[in-house]
Amino acid sequence: MVLTGISSFRDNKTPLEMIDLPEPVPKEGEVLVQVSACGVCHTELDEIEGRTPPPALPIIPGHQVVGRVAGAGKKAKRFHTGERVGIGWIFSACGHCAACLAGDENVCEEFKATGRDANGGYAGFMTVPENFAYPIPDIFSDAEAAPLLCAGAIGYRSLRLTNLKDGQNLGLTGFGASAHLVLKMVLHKYPSSRVYVFARSQKEQAFARELGAVWAGNTEDEPPEKLHSIIDTTPAWKPIIEALKNLVSGGRLVINAIRKEDTDKDNLLRVNYPNHLWLEKEIKSVANVTRRDISEFLRLAAEIPIKPEVQEFSLEEANRALVELKEAKIRGAKVLRMD
Ligand SMILES: [Zn+2]
Ligand SMILES: [Zn+2]
Repeated sequence: MVLTGISSFRDNKTPLEMIDLPEPVPKEGEVLVQVSACGVCHTELDEIEGRTPPPALPIIPGHQVVGRVAGAGKKAKRFHTGERVGIGWIFSACGHCAACLAGDENVCEEFKATGRDANGGYAGFMTVPENFAYPIPDIFSDAEAAPLLCAGAIGYRSLRLTNLKDGQNLGLTGFGASAHLVLKMVLHKYPSSRVYVFARSQKEQAFARELGAVWAGNTEDEPPEKLHSIIDTTPAWKPIIEALKNLVSGGRLVINAIRKEDTDKDNLLRVNYPNHLWLEKEIKSVANVTRRDISEFLRLAAEIPIKPEVQEFSLEEANRALVELKEAKIRGAKVLRMD
């Protein structure tokens, strides 16, 4: 399924087109992967509608890919034929810049994203550098593993960036798919920590308590104790200001949102230096993922275990899956199956 042009879902409900392409040939250090499942992500909507446009078209989208190694280019020896692997958002990075050498390949200037800067997994086959593919733990089916490769890995990264230690309090502002996963990870990894959830709807608050949060309230509520770190997954600004006031001295707010909308930006004028920033409070954003995030998260997800609820579509139904994601029709991760 290829994307040939940028358009809005309002005007075009079938932005992807099914075409026949020759099987890709793995270059040096790359493997050929026969795709069996590929998750459908909000980032695909951003690519199609031009908010994060692919630098060149046509392109095959898809960056939550599970499949089996079906061939290898020169010098690619890491996997044997038939081995199951996963591929995530990071397709490659230069490997030798200061960021890469420091383990921050997610911010490498030559960072390439799967399905945006290189062909992805909405296809029968794809190629990827072998060092950017991951063994998939046996407990997951292909379709279950696919969604873990994006939202789960990025949630894991945001949790890692909080520098949380067991026993410290964590806040989650916004309680969507990624925050659910983070809550499950915290309960497992930091059993003595308490999690506080800030969400607008009563339903989300109740769900958070059910999953193990010790407290859930509205965005502007003040929890009974200060928090060591807070992860924000909302597209708005008000939760940022509200979260900062709830941090301990030296506490950190991690923003796990690709972009913030301008509609409530006037909230930033409410910043009160003594309450919101003084005493060494920090703000850090999360960008992309590293290979370390993906492989560590896959191991953790198998250990907990975290098994996502999935809704399957055939490859031909990719446009319908995207429209349903855009319209937020049914909950559960959408996954394309190639059979
Ligand atoms: Zn994604
Ligand atoms: Zn680099």
